Amino acid sequence: PARTRFAPSPTGYLHLGSLRTALFNYLLAKRTGGQFLLRIEDTDQRRTIPDAEERLFKDLRWACLQWDEGPEVGGPYGPYKQSERSALYREHAQKLIDSGHGYRCFCSAERLNDLAQQRHKLGLATDYDRTCVSIPKEESDDRVAKGETHVVRLRSPDPYPEYQDLIYGTFRPLKQRRGEQSFEDPILLKSDGLPTYHLANVVDDHHMKITHVIRGSEWMPSTPKHIAMYNAFGWTPPQFAHVGLLVDQQGNKLSKRNFDTDISAFREMEIFPETLTNFAALLGWSHPERKDVMDLATLVEKFSLKFTKGNTIVTFSKLHFLQRKHAALRVEAGGEGLKEIVQNVTRLLQEPEGPYKEWRSLLGDRSLEEYIKLIVKSDAENYTNANEFTYRNSFMFKPLRNDPSFTDAEGIPTMAKQLQEVEDWAHHNIRKKIYEIIDGSSEEAKPVFKYLRKALTGSEEGMRVYDIMLILGRGECLRRLGVEL
Ligand code: GLU
Repeated sequence: PARTRFAPSPTGYLHLGSLRTALFNYLLAKRTGGQFLLRIEDTDQRRTIPDAEERLFKDLRWACLQWDEGPEVGGPYGPYKQSERSALYREHAQKLIDSGHGYRCFCSAERLNDLAQQRHKLGLATDYDRTCVSIPKEESDDRVAKGETHVVRLRSPDPYPEYQDLIYGTFRPLKQRRGEQSFEDPILLKSDGLPTYHLANVVDDHHMKITHVIRGSEWMPSTPKHIAMYNAFGWTPPQFAHVGLLVDQQGNKLSKRNFDTDISAFREMEIFPETLTNFAALLGWSHPERKDVMDLATLVEKFSLKFTKGNTIVTFSKLHFLQRKHAALRVEAGGEGLKEIVQNVTRLLQEPEGPYKEWRSLLGDRSLEEYIKLIVKSDAENYTNANEFTYRNSFMFKPLRNDPSFTDAEGIPTMAKQLQEVEDWAHHNIRKKIYEIIDGSSEEAKPVFKYLRKALTGSEEGMRVYDIMLILGRGECLRRLGVEL
């Protein structure tokens, strides 16, 4: 069983890329009968957004990615919020100092700034120059005792260890590939005694017994540092699987402009959670037989660590395709999912300032919910959200009559008279009459349906004509066909 974690920093809300990361970790844990953890990495307090944490919880739960251990649910290795674990990190920084794998650095922020600028001009990566690496222990202890400001750095191994990425295979740091010196001596503990991402992340993954880390490929350059730290502590590192970036069709990283908005935007568009998790799962992973419509349970069942290497292009037409498929599945299942759709459409129709005000006369003895349910059931495969749906089927929500351009067309008046003879407005009776009208010839059927549809809906496409006739009912249909009742 795998123990995985999603470790967001509360510096922003959940967006498509981070949802995908959370989802993959969730799926691996569930697939293997393990646990999915949530850990809040709030080491950078200045960048923390006040409501980010709450929103993360809400959005993850909305997507049905409930964590087994973490904030609000607890667990044996808590607390699951890094700002509440500072003592543990300090203790571990000290361990590295004691074992010689870490050292204190007393360089001032100004010096480091200047250094970075110089090295940048020289075309060197903006690394530290290791001024403090050889300060003797006594001197170092002495300066601390005197209260001198310092950070703790990792003494980087040279070369950095290679590691086996589950997706990318053997990974070596870029500099090493270029034959450059590889030390970077990342800061582990800041001058305020709080950890950096590197230290807190490694200490926590170890203490929380994480077995697999799935994360974005932007973290791949950090991984050799992390492995070096595991080695320095004498711990076994988890396995790492990195997934490519999400890009748009032009190859640009997803941004606010091209939909990498936070998850609430999808929720506001009334995208179903199962649509979004399905969509996110297919960004870099695929079903072994290339099936594409899957609910969360199916994803769990089929999941494996077979990701595509490299960046993933996000196509939003796919999102809408999946939404229509999931709408059809909701209708088929007939449970809460369908109820929610009906509620959304109902709410829209009841809006006092909304575009539809005259639907009451179309209900007959049905309630609005009953009426909407019939329409949704007949056009589920085209459902994306309430707004688009009511617009698409607006002929169901407003009277439409005696438009001469429809009703004078192509034999409609004759057809209307014949249909008037159908007293019991049931599917088989209407069908029988229509076959009488077209004299049993299927040649004739197509244009008849076309003109009927046009007269009944004002449009040339949409749900099946029989469904339209049944839902509108006898009176409304005949009136739309120009019959004075
Ligand atoms: N806190 C990091 C983030 O915000 C976690 C990266 C990781 O998964 O190691 O993405």
